[in-house]
Amino acid sequence: MRPNLLILGGTTEATALAHAVADRSIDATLSFAGRVERVKRQPVPIRIGGFGGAKGLTDWLRENRITHVVDATHPFAAQMSRNAVAACAEADVPLIALTRPPWRPEPGDSWQTVPDIPAAVAALAGQPRRVMLAVGRMHLEAFAAQPQHFYLLRLVDPPASPPPLPRHHVLVSRGPFTVAEDTGLMQAHAIDLVVSKNAGGTGARAKIDAARSLGLPVLMIDRPALPARREVGTPEAVLDWLAHSGADLGV
Ligand code: NAP
Repeated sequence: MRPNLLILGGTTEATALAHAVADRSIDATLSFAGRVERVKRQPVPIRIGGFGGAKGLTDWLRENRITHVVDATHPFAAQMSRNAVAACAEADVPLIALTRPPWRPEPGDSWQTVPDIPAAVAALAGQPRRVMLAVGRMHLEAFAAQPQHFYLLRLVDPPASPPPLPRHHVLVSRGPFTVAEDTGLMQAHAIDLVVSKNAGGTGARAKIDAARSLGLPVLMIDRPALPARREVGTPEAVLDWLAHSGADLGV
């Protein structure tokens, strides 16, 4: 069977997989939610926008004769990942997740771990602080409940409307970032607390290493729970899975 993949993307891992499949002339479509203004050039055809829930995705898989789905979305894109599990079960299409292990605290780290964004907001009650808030544009509104802090915001695109935080500074940058850059940034803005999602991987890790080097505490937001699914950590492992699931990779 000649494979025809759907890669659910929006991450560096998804782009790495797209290169790996393109190098082997495997048919694939890479899907983006459409959250960022400019999608980087990709080596396989792309589609942009939601599918219309699990039902919409089920229909899309059937209409496009998809043989395998790789969920390479960000670990916090929980709705998309849940929909992928449901739709693949319904359409009887094999699913694998290409994901990264969560970060674990190392010696010298000072983390307070919270289960989700509302818990992070609650944990910020108290005296004004200077906070590097690295949670993405979608969640900024929740932090308006703690307006006493200065927030350093790093966003992929310039915000369409001013963030709802009275004291903030916006940096527009896509990353990946280096520890030296992030250390300098934290010093320049006199940051005394970093708020981060436990994204895992290397692209967003610099701020965690920078916080450790400066002795700064981190408020670390745990990943959302997801339904059970097969998971691997590298594009090569996805290709192995494809080969072992009866796909003809032409090699
Ligand atoms: P989400 O809350 O799980 O998804 C909400 C809805 O957006 C989904 O139900 C789906 O709409 C649509 N969607 C999400 N990812 C999609 C994809 N790859 N292709 C097509 N539709 C998609 O997701 P999110 O947290 O907003 O993340 C959106 C995108 O940004 C994902 O591609 C993710 O990999 C990327 N991203 C997220 C984060 C993060 O921190 N959450 C960080 C970096 C990158 P329908 O129900 O209509 O299909």
